[in-house]
Amino acid sequence: MPGCIFCDIVAGRIPATELYRDEDFLAFRDIDPQAPVHILLIPLRHIPGLSDLTPDDADLTGRLILTATGIAADQGLDDAGYRFVVNCGRQGGQAVDHLHLHILGGRQMQWPPG
Ligand code: AMP
Repeated sequence: MPGCIFCDIVAGRIPATELYRDEDFLAFRDIDPQAPVHILLIPLRHIPGLSDLTPDDADLTGRLILTATGIAADQGLDDAGYRFVVNCGRQGGQAVDHLHLHILGGRQMQWPPG
């Protein structure tokens, strides 16, 4: 998608610290980490956000979560715990309109989130 920074990262036009890539997903370090571990997991395909998912994306959505739990385990977060965040829309705090799941860990999380 022209003008999408995460599509540019997928295509290698913008550099990122990639941690994982397969035929459907890419994980890379967040440029402005909010925790000792802060990774973004995105579908390679441009899906703007959660509310754009359709029933046809059910398998992809499930694998998004399972891929994220695998990355969290690889990062050694299983014992202490971690948090996934998916912001949706402006009031939900979404700044980049390419679906992404935040994997946050390495510190005590607070509730409620800001
Ligand atoms: P959100 O507010 O949920 O849309 O999150 C967008 C995230 O993308 C933020 O945590 C940003 O720090 C992160 N981000 C923006 N640009 C880049 C980039 N070029 N490389 C890595 N992370 C980025």
